[in-house]
Amino acid sequence: MDGFTLQNKNNLWFGSFSAFTQAGFGNAFSCRLHGESSLVPGWFNLALHVGDDADKVLSNRRKYAAALGVAANKFTCCEQVHGDVVAVVDEAAVGKGALAYADAVKGTDALVTNLPDVPLLLFFADCVPVIFADPVTGCIGLAHAGWRGTVADIAQKTVQKMQEAFGAKPQDIIAGIGPCIGSCCYEVDDTVYNAGKKHAQCFKPKGNGKYMADLPEWNRQSLLEAGVLPQHIYRAGICTECNKELFFSYRAEGGKTGRMGVTIWKRQKG
Ligand SMILES: [Zn+2]
Repeated sequence: MDGFTLQNKNNLWFGSFSAFTQAGFGNAFSCRLHGESSLVPGWFNLALHVGDDADKVLSNRRKYAAALGVAANKFTCCEQVHGDVVAVVDEAAVGKGALAYADAVKGTDALVTNLPDVPLLLFFADCVPVIFADPVTGCIGLAHAGWRGTVADIAQKTVQKMQEAFGAKPQDIIAGIGPCIGSCCYEVDDTVYNAGKKHAQCFKPKGNGKYMADLPEWNRQSLLEAGVLPQHIYRAGICTECNKELFFSYRAEGGKTGRMGVTIWKRQKG
């Protein structure tokens, strides 16, 4: 869907959006296969904060970097606290969180930068990953949108930060919504519905105060409100819970799972 394809390189599976690749931006959404993990042998877990052996996670990250042709020591990560803070990655921040979670950019759920060859890297299991690139100014962004981040319009705030920091125009920005839990599987209660009711069309009532919520569509609407053009929003259209053999799913696995790594970087021209 929307030019999102899975490929295998160096015995590693990951997906990417061709619209970004063609515009000069590397991007990858990892799968859960063919890794090392102390949690479950074989898991390709890329997150340091889920109780996995750090050496194994770092080995997975090096394998991922090698397959993508990026530098593992430049992976730049943030804490991911389900908030709405967007941070600018400058030279001093490059590589934060690459080797230790404690070193990741604090209290932040989205990163933007205009530095070339700096792979932003965030972690997901059901939450919505949104990648951004502006082919005109060359800046990029990556946001972590669980339901709280979605309510807080983190995708919209990432667009605004690209405007403020780098002069990007929303109508030039391309956005990609990666694999995440779909409306087929994401049952929520009144708490989420009440927080998100201004996007009531993203909720299908199931009775008993339960709803099926459409987080990717909700984020798409948030991007449209930010001024991103509908034809510039790409969607993977893949549900992580329906495809839990391929992707980590927090819901499907009762919270005991690994994390996929989503990365985007601006390729150095030349
Ligand atoms: Zn599903």
